[in-house]
Amino acid sequence: MTSKRFTLSLVVAAAAALLLTACNPIPAEPPVTAGVPTPGSACQERNEIARETLAGTPPSPALARFDAADRKAFASSAFGYLCELSEVVGPRESATQEELESAEFLMERFTELGYSPEMQDFGRWTTVKDLRPPPGPSRNIILELPGRGEGVVILGAHYDTTPDSVGANDNASGVGVLLALAERLAQPPWSNQAVSVFPFTLRFIAFGSEETGLHGSWHYVDQLTDAELADIWVMINLDSVGSGTTLFAVGNPWLTRHVSEAAEREGVLLTIGRRWLSGGFSDNFSFGDAWVPTIFFSGNDISRINSPDDTIEFINPALLGDTAVLVLDLLASLEDLQCGCR
Ligand SMILES: [Zn+2]
Repeated sequence: MTSKRFTLSLVVAAAAALLLTACNPIPAEPPVTAGVPTPGSACQERNEIARETLAGTPPSPALARFDAADRKAFASSAFGYLCELSEVVGPRESATQEELESAEFLMERFTELGYSPEMQDFGRWTTVKDLRPPPGPSRNIILELPGRGEGVVILGAHYDTTPDSVGANDNASGVGVLLALAERLAQPPWSNQAVSVFPFTLRFIAFGSEETGLHGSWHYVDQLTDAELADIWVMINLDSVGSGTTLFAVGNPWLTRHVSEAAEREGVLLTIGRRWLSGGFSDNFSFGDAWVPTIFFSGNDISRINSPDDTIEFINPALLGDTAVLVLDLLASLEDLQCGCR
Protein backbone atom coordinates (compact mmCIF):
# COMPACT_ATOMS: atom_id res chain seq x y z
CA MET A 1 0.00 0.00 0.00
CA THR A 2 2.02 2.92 1.19
CA SER A 3 5.76 3.44 1.15
CA LYS A 4 5.53 3.80 4.93
CA ARG A 5 4.34 0.25 5.08
CA PHE A 6 7.53 -0.88 3.44
CA THR A 7 9.82 1.03 5.75
CA LEU A 8 8.11 -0.90 8.50
CA SER A 9 8.02 -4.19 6.68
CA LEU A 10 10.77 -5.87 8.67
CA VAL A 11 9.11 -4.91 11.91
CA VAL A 12 5.71 -6.17 10.93
CA ALA A 13 6.79 -9.25 8.97
CA ALA A 14 6.42 -11.67 11.84
CA ALA A 15 3.12 -10.20 12.94
CA ALA A 16 1.84 -10.28 9.38
CA ALA A 17 2.71 -13.96 9.05
CA LEU A 18 0.73 -14.69 12.19
CA LEU A 19 -2.19 -12.60 11.02
CA LEU A 20 -2.30 -14.32 7.66
CA THR A 21 -3.11 -17.57 9.37
CA ALA A 22 -5.25 -16.01 12.07
CA CYS A 23 -7.75 -13.67 10.50
CA ASN A 24 -7.27 -13.34 6.77
CA PRO A 25 -6.20 -9.69 6.64
CA ILE A 26 -5.50 -7.74 3.51
CA PRO A 27 -1.88 -8.52 2.64
CA ALA A 28 0.71 -5.82 2.16
CA GLU A 29 0.91 -4.58 -1.41
CA PRO A 30 4.05 -3.75 -3.35
CA PRO A 31 4.42 -0.06 -4.26
CA VAL A 32 1.81 0.99 -6.77
CA THR A 33 3.01 1.91 -10.24
CA ALA A 34 1.02 3.28 -13.14
CA GLY A 35 -1.27 0.21 -13.21
CA VAL A 36 -2.84 1.08 -16.51
CA PRO A 37 -3.40 -1.53 -19.20
CA THR A 38 -2.10 -0.79 -22.66
CA PRO A 39 -5.15 0.55 -24.45
CA GLY A 40 -5.88 0.94 -28.10
CA SER A 41 -4.92 4.37 -29.44
CA ALA A 42 -8.58 5.42 -29.34
CA CYS A 43 -8.37 5.38 -25.58
CA GLN A 44 -5.05 7.08 -24.96
CA GLU A 45 -6.52 10.56 -24.74
CA ARG A 46 -9.46 9.36 -22.66
CA ASN A 47 -7.16 7.63 -20.22
CA GLU A 48 -5.04 10.73 -19.92
CA ILE A 49 -8.07 12.84 -19.05
CA ALA A 50 -9.14 10.25 -16.48
CA ARG A 51 -5.70 10.30 -14.87
CA GLU A 52 -5.88 14.10 -14.63
CA THR A 53 -9.27 13.82 -12.96
CA LEU A 54 -7.93 11.24 -10.55
CA ALA A 55 -4.98 13.42 -9.63
CA GLY A 56 -7.38 15.25 -7.32
CA THR A 57 -8.19 12.09 -5.33
CA PRO A 58 -8.10 13.12 -1.67
CA PRO A 59 -5.92 11.21 0.81
CA SER A 60 -7.56 8.19 2.41
CA PRO A 61 -8.56 8.40 6.09
CA ALA A 62 -5.93 7.34 8.63
CA LEU A 63 -7.47 3.90 9.24
CA ALA A 64 -8.04 3.09 5.56
CA ARG A 65 -6.59 -0.15 4.22
CA PHE A 66 -6.13 1.35 0.76
CA ASP A 67 -4.39 4.65 0.19
CA ALA A 68 -5.18 7.16 -2.53
CA ALA A 69 -2.54 5.66 -4.84
CA ASP A 70 -4.26 2.25 -4.63
CA ARG A 71 -7.64 3.75 -5.45
CA LYS A 72 -6.21 5.74 -8.34
CA ALA A 73 -4.42 2.69 -9.73
CA PHE A 74 -7.61 0.61 -9.61
CA ALA A 75 -9.60 3.45 -11.14
CA SER A 76 -7.11 3.97 -14.00
CA SER A 77 -6.94 0.28 -14.74
CA ALA A 78 -10.72 -0.19 -14.71
CA PHE A 79 -11.24 2.97 -16.77
CA GLY A 80 -8.80 1.71 -19.41
CA TYR A 81 -10.76 -1.52 -19.78
CA LEU A 82 -14.05 0.41 -19.75
CA CYS A 83 -12.78 2.58 -22.59
CA GLU A 84 -11.77 -0.39 -24.68
CA LEU A 85 -15.15 -2.05 -24.25
CA SER A 86 -17.25 1.06 -24.86
CA GLU A 87 -15.13 3.04 -27.36
CA VAL A 88 -13.30 0.30 -29.27
CA VAL A 89 -15.66 -2.69 -29.09
CA GLY A 90 -18.81 -0.52 -28.99
CA PRO A 91 -22.45 -1.67 -28.84
CA ARG A 92 -22.85 -5.34 -27.95
CA GLU A 93 -26.55 -6.07 -28.03
CA SER A 94 -27.66 -9.24 -26.30
CA ALA A 95 -27.45 -12.43 -28.36
CA THR A 96 -26.00 -10.81 -31.49
CA GLN A 97 -22.80 -11.12 -33.50
CA GLU A 98 -21.56 -7.96 -31.73
CA GLU A 99 -22.09 -9.61 -28.37
CA LEU A 100 -20.12 -12.62 -29.58
CA GLU A 101 -17.25 -10.38 -30.73
CA SER A 102 -17.18 -8.60 -27.38
CA ALA A 103 -17.11 -11.99 -25.64
CA GLU A 104 -14.08 -12.94 -27.72
CA PHE A 105 -12.44 -9.65 -26.79
CA LEU A 106 -12.98 -10.43 -23.10
CA MET A 107 -11.67 -13.98 -23.53
CA GLU A 108 -8.48 -12.48 -24.90
CA ARG A 109 -8.14 -9.97 -22.11
CA PHE A 110 -8.65 -12.54 -19.35
CA THR A 111 -6.22 -14.92 -21.06
CA GLU A 112 -3.60 -12.18 -21.22
CA LEU A 113 -3.97 -11.80 -17.46
CA GLY A 114 -3.00 -15.44 -17.01
CA TYR A 115 -6.43 -16.99 -16.57
CA SER A 116 -8.05 -19.83 -18.49
CA PRO A 117 -11.49 -18.42 -19.27
CA GLU A 118 -14.25 -20.61 -20.64
CA MET A 119 -17.19 -19.64 -22.77
CA GLN A 120 -20.45 -21.12 -21.55
CA ASP A 121 -22.90 -21.19 -24.43
CA PHE A 122 -26.58 -20.90 -23.85
CA GLY A 123 -29.63 -19.92 -25.79
CA ARG A 124 -32.35 -21.28 -27.92
CA TRP A 125 -30.25 -23.80 -29.80
CA THR A 126 -27.75 -24.78 -27.17
CA THR A 127 -29.78 -26.05 -24.26
CA VAL A 128 -33.14 -27.55 -23.61
CA LYS A 129 -32.88 -26.84 -19.89
CA ASP A 130 -33.27 -23.08 -19.99
CA LEU A 131 -36.54 -22.02 -18.46
CA ARG A 132 -36.02 -18.50 -19.80
CA PRO A 133 -34.11 -18.78 -23.07
CA PRO A 134 -32.69 -15.59 -24.62
CA PRO A 135 -33.73 -14.51 -28.11
CA GLY A 136 -30.71 -16.30 -29.60
CA PRO A 137 -27.38 -17.94 -28.82
CA SER A 138 -25.41 -16.10 -26.16
CA ARG A 139 -22.63 -16.92 -23.76
CA ASN A 140 -21.16 -16.34 -20.31
CA ILE A 141 -17.43 -16.05 -19.75
CA ILE A 142 -16.22 -17.87 -16.65
CA LEU A 143 -12.79 -17.97 -15.05
CA GLU A 144 -11.47 -18.93 -11.67
CA LEU A 145 -8.82 -18.01 -9.19
CA PRO A 146 -8.42 -20.97 -6.82
CA GLY A 147 -7.96 -20.20 -3.14
CA ARG A 148 -6.76 -22.05 -0.09
CA GLY A 149 -10.11 -23.51 0.95
CA GLU A 150 -13.49 -24.86 -0.03
CA GLY A 151 -16.34 -22.72 -1.20
CA VAL A 152 -16.90 -20.31 -4.03
CA VAL A 153 -17.46 -16.58 -4.25
CA ILE A 154 -18.81 -15.22 -7.51
CA LEU A 155 -17.93 -11.78 -8.77
CA GLY A 156 -20.13 -10.98 -11.74
CA ALA A 157 -20.87 -8.23 -14.25
CA HIS A 158 -22.81 -8.41 -17.50
CA TYR A 159 -21.10 -7.30 -20.68
CA ASP A 160 -24.00 -6.96 -23.14
CA THR A 161 -25.87 -3.74 -23.94
CA THR A 162 -29.19 -2.63 -25.25
CA PRO A 163 -29.30 -1.77 -28.99
CA ASP A 164 -27.44 1.39 -30.06
CA SER A 165 -25.75 1.91 -26.71
CA VAL A 166 -22.03 1.58 -26.12
CA GLY A 167 -22.90 0.95 -22.49
CA ALA A 168 -20.05 2.86 -20.89
CA ASN A 169 -21.79 2.82 -17.55
CA ASP A 170 -24.09 -0.14 -18.23
CA ASN A 171 -22.01 -2.16 -18.02
CA ALA A 172 -18.48 -1.57 -19.30
CA SER A 173 -17.97 -0.02 -15.86
CA GLY A 174 -18.70 -3.27 -14.02
CA VAL A 175 -16.66 -5.33 -16.47
CA GLY A 176 -13.82 -2.80 -16.20
CA VAL A 177 -13.71 -3.24 -12.43
CA LEU A 178 -13.96 -7.01 -12.89
CA LEU A 179 -10.90 -6.97 -15.16
CA ALA A 180 -8.96 -4.60 -12.92
CA LEU A 181 -9.58 -6.89 -9.93
CA ALA A 182 -8.73 -10.02 -11.92
CA GLU A 183 -5.49 -8.33 -12.97
CA ARG A 184 -4.47 -7.32 -9.47
CA LEU A 185 -5.54 -10.52 -7.72
CA ALA A 186 -3.49 -12.70 -10.06
CA GLN A 187 -0.31 -11.13 -8.67
CA PRO A 188 1.57 -11.22 -5.35
CA PRO A 189 0.75 -10.61 -2.58
CA TRP A 190 -2.78 -11.67 -3.42
CA SER A 191 -1.76 -14.81 -5.30
CA ASN A 192 1.19 -17.09 -5.46
CA GLN A 193 1.50 -19.56 -8.33
CA ALA A 194 -2.11 -18.89 -9.34
CA VAL A 195 -3.54 -19.64 -5.87
CA SER A 196 -4.97 -16.70 -3.97
CA VAL A 197 -4.79 -15.90 -0.26
CA PHE A 198 -8.57 -16.23 -0.03
CA PRO A 199 -10.14 -19.25 1.67
CA PHE A 200 -12.39 -19.84 -1.34
CA THR A 201 -12.32 -20.04 -5.10
CA LEU A 202 -13.05 -16.67 -6.63
CA ARG A 203 -15.08 -17.19 -9.78
CA PHE A 204 -15.32 -14.25 -12.17
CA ILE A 205 -18.28 -14.32 -14.53
CA ALA A 206 -19.04 -11.88 -17.35
CA PHE A 207 -22.69 -12.57 -18.10
CA GLY A 208 -24.29 -12.36 -21.54
CA SER A 209 -27.85 -11.31 -22.37
CA GLU A 210 -28.61 -9.57 -19.10
CA GLU A 211 -30.46 -6.76 -20.82
CA THR A 212 -33.12 -9.01 -22.31
CA GLY A 213 -33.99 -10.65 -19.00
CA LEU A 214 -30.99 -11.79 -16.93
CA HIS A 215 -30.62 -14.77 -19.26
CA GLY A 216 -26.92 -15.41 -18.69
CA SER A 217 -27.11 -15.49 -14.91
CA TRP A 218 -30.38 -17.38 -14.98
CA HIS A 219 -28.81 -20.04 -17.18
CA TYR A 220 -25.71 -20.18 -15.02
CA VAL A 221 -27.68 -20.83 -11.83
CA ASP A 222 -30.02 -23.20 -13.63
CA GLN A 223 -27.25 -25.53 -14.79
CA LEU A 224 -25.61 -25.86 -11.35
CA THR A 225 -26.16 -29.00 -9.32
CA ASP A 226 -27.60 -28.60 -5.83
CA ALA A 227 -24.15 -29.28 -4.37
CA GLU A 228 -22.51 -26.66 -6.61
CA LEU A 229 -25.14 -24.14 -5.66
CA ALA A 230 -24.65 -24.88 -1.96
CA ASP A 231 -20.91 -24.22 -2.33
CA ILE A 232 -21.47 -20.58 -3.28
CA TRP A 233 -20.93 -18.33 -0.28
CA VAL A 234 -21.81 -15.03 -1.88
CA MET A 235 -22.52 -13.49 -5.28
CA ILE A 236 -21.22 -9.93 -5.76
CA ASN A 237 -22.74 -8.14 -8.74
CA LEU A 238 -21.37 -5.00 -10.38
CA ASP A 239 -23.72 -3.15 -12.71
CA SER A 240 -23.46 0.49 -13.75
CA VAL A 241 -20.89 1.47 -11.13
CA GLY A 242 -19.38 4.30 -13.17
CA SER A 243 -21.72 7.30 -13.12
CA GLY A 244 -22.69 9.68 -10.36
CA THR A 245 -21.04 10.99 -7.25
CA THR A 246 -21.54 8.12 -4.80
CA LEU A 247 -21.83 4.36 -4.82
CA PHE A 248 -24.98 2.48 -3.99
CA ALA A 249 -25.29 -1.07 -2.63
CA VAL A 250 -28.21 -3.32 -1.87
CA GLY A 251 -28.15 -6.90 -0.63
CA ASN A 252 -28.25 -9.21 2.35
CA PRO A 253 -27.96 -7.09 5.52
CA TRP A 254 -24.86 -8.83 6.92
CA LEU A 255 -23.07 -7.96 3.68
CA THR A 256 -24.29 -4.40 3.32
CA ARG A 257 -23.52 -3.73 6.98
CA HIS A 258 -19.94 -4.83 6.51
CA VAL A 259 -19.53 -2.90 3.27
CA SER A 260 -20.98 0.19 4.90
CA GLU A 261 -18.35 0.01 7.65
CA ALA A 262 -15.61 -0.54 5.08
CA ALA A 263 -16.80 2.47 3.09
CA GLU A 264 -16.62 4.67 6.16
CA ARG A 265 -13.12 3.43 6.94
CA GLU A 266 -11.96 4.01 3.34
CA GLY A 267 -13.60 7.40 2.97
CA VAL A 268 -15.90 6.13 0.20
CA LEU A 269 -19.36 7.66 -0.13
CA LEU A 270 -21.89 4.81 -0.13
CA THR A 271 -25.65 4.64 0.18
CA ILE A 272 -27.32 1.40 1.24
CA GLY A 273 -30.64 0.52 -0.35
CA ARG A 274 -33.34 -0.94 1.88
CA ARG A 275 -35.41 -2.62 -0.80
CA TRP A 276 -34.20 -5.24 -3.24
CA LEU A 277 -35.57 -3.37 -6.23
CA SER A 278 -34.17 -0.01 -5.12
CA GLY A 279 -31.01 -0.89 -7.04
CA GLY A 280 -32.79 -1.92 -10.18
CA PHE A 281 -32.93 -5.33 -11.70
CA SER A 282 -29.72 -7.20 -12.44
CA ASP A 283 -27.97 -10.57 -12.38
CA ASN A 284 -27.88 -10.79 -8.59
CA PHE A 285 -31.58 -11.63 -8.78
CA SER A 286 -30.89 -14.95 -10.49
CA PHE A 287 -28.72 -15.94 -7.53
CA GLY A 288 -30.94 -14.45 -4.84
CA ASP A 289 -33.81 -16.40 -6.35
CA ALA A 290 -31.80 -19.56 -5.55
CA TRP A 291 -31.14 -18.36 -1.96
CA VAL A 292 -27.53 -17.37 -2.56
CA PRO A 293 -26.55 -14.30 -0.47
CA THR A 294 -25.94 -11.39 -2.81
CA ILE A 295 -24.76 -7.81 -2.85
CA PHE A 296 -25.20 -5.48 -5.78
CA PHE A 297 -23.15 -2.33 -6.43
CA SER A 298 -24.03 0.55 -8.74
CA GLY A 299 -23.38 4.26 -9.00
CA ASN A 300 -26.07 6.71 -7.90
CA ASP A 301 -26.71 8.04 -11.42
CA ILE A 302 -28.28 5.50 -13.75
CA SER A 303 -30.22 8.10 -15.73
CA ARG A 304 -28.49 7.41 -19.06
CA ILE A 305 -28.36 3.62 -19.05
CA ASN A 306 -29.94 1.69 -21.91
CA SER A 307 -29.65 4.70 -24.21
CA PRO A 308 -27.24 6.19 -26.77
CA ASP A 309 -26.32 8.75 -24.10
CA ASP A 310 -24.59 6.16 -21.94
CA THR A 311 -21.12 7.26 -23.03
CA ILE A 312 -17.69 7.60 -21.51
CA GLU A 313 -18.05 11.37 -20.99
CA PHE A 314 -20.36 10.62 -18.08
CA ILE A 315 -18.05 8.21 -16.32
CA ASN A 316 -16.60 9.27 -12.98
CA PRO A 317 -13.34 7.25 -12.82
CA ALA A 318 -13.09 7.63 -9.05
CA LEU A 319 -16.22 5.50 -8.60
CA LEU A 320 -14.47 2.61 -10.34
CA GLY A 321 -11.59 2.72 -7.89
CA ASP A 322 -13.99 3.02 -4.96
CA THR A 323 -15.91 -0.03 -6.16
CA ALA A 324 -12.71 -2.05 -6.49
CA VAL A 325 -11.51 -1.31 -2.96
CA LEU A 326 -14.90 -2.07 -1.41
CA VAL A 327 -15.09 -5.40 -3.25
CA LEU A 328 -11.54 -6.25 -2.29
CA ASP A 329 -12.17 -5.37 1.33
CA LEU A 330 -15.26 -7.58 1.31
CA LEU A 331 -13.39 -10.52 -0.27
CA ALA A 332 -10.62 -10.24 2.31
CA SER A 333 -13.16 -10.22 5.16
CA LEU A 334 -15.58 -12.92 4.06
CA GLU A 335 -13.99 -15.64 6.12
CA ASP A 336 -14.68 -13.66 9.28
CA LEU A 337 -18.22 -12.92 8.12
CA GLN A 338 -19.16 -16.58 7.68
CA CYS A 339 -22.17 -16.72 9.94
CA GLY A 340 -24.60 -19.25 8.57
CA CYS A 341 -26.59 -16.39 7.15
CA ARG A 342 -28.03 -18.32 4.23
ZN1 LIG B 1 -26.79 -3.38 -16.52
